[in-house]
Amino acid sequence: MRLADGVEVLELPMRSFSGQSIIHPTLTWDDDTVVLVDAGFPGQLQQIRDATARAGVSFDRLDKLIITHQDIDHIGSLPDIVRESPHKVDVVSSEEERPYIEGRKPLIKMNPERLSKMVASLPEERRQQIEMMFANPPKANVTTAVADGEVLPYCGGITVIYTPGHTPGHICLYLNQSKILVSGDALVAADGELQGPNPRSAYDIDTALNSLKKLTQYDIKTVICYHGGVYRDSANKRLAELASAAH
Ligand SMILES: [Zn+2]
Repeated sequence: MRLADGVEVLELPMRSFSGQSIIHPTLTWDDDTVVLVDAGFPGQLQQIRDATARAGVSFDRLDKLIITHQDIDHIGSLPDIVRESPHKVDVVSSEEERPYIEGRKPLIKMNPERLSKMVASLPEERRQQIEMMFANPPKANVTTAVADGEVLPYCGGITVIYTPGHTPGHICLYLNQSKILVSGDALVAADGELQGPNPRSAYDIDTALNSLKKLTQYDIKTVICYHGGVYRDSANKRLAELASAAH
């Protein structure tokens, strides 16, 4: 779905632990640079290629990959994209997420205890698939670590907003030109409404709720939630409501 000149939200069907759903990586580009925010679930390289082509952008032009956080549905196809790209892809994350994305620390939500709870009710075959996936999780070198408030100088300026809570170093991205907030998992959209972070999937829900306050400092026209998709109706007002309910 095209949201603005050079901004497209991709819609990729994903089969994860909890069943079938749609995830929403964001593609933004100008004449010089093509940026993808978040890299889907493992095995989604071809879907990402196809969705990028449908947006009218050649996958081979992709040169920046911004990862909002370490969860498997955001880093899943990262190593495949880096490997399949005809040139070097700049992988961007916060410094806090870096050791997890690089595989130097185990993914924070995927300790054996949590994993066995999550897969307990699944059929044997599916359980084995998921256990195998986490035995060898996706990883890639982060080439650029970014900090809160930093403006990445491409596609009209992309501001990094440090929004910890869902994971320790989660970031949102604000597209300066189109006033679109790429919220990662700091927010979710459900039943046409913008909601705060999902407590069940948060690493530290109090911190995640507190991070919402930072988002009220930006003039936001549209929010892209990785889970739930696009939210357009008076985003500033709704964000103020969510932030004031947070304490
Ligand atoms: Zn997610």
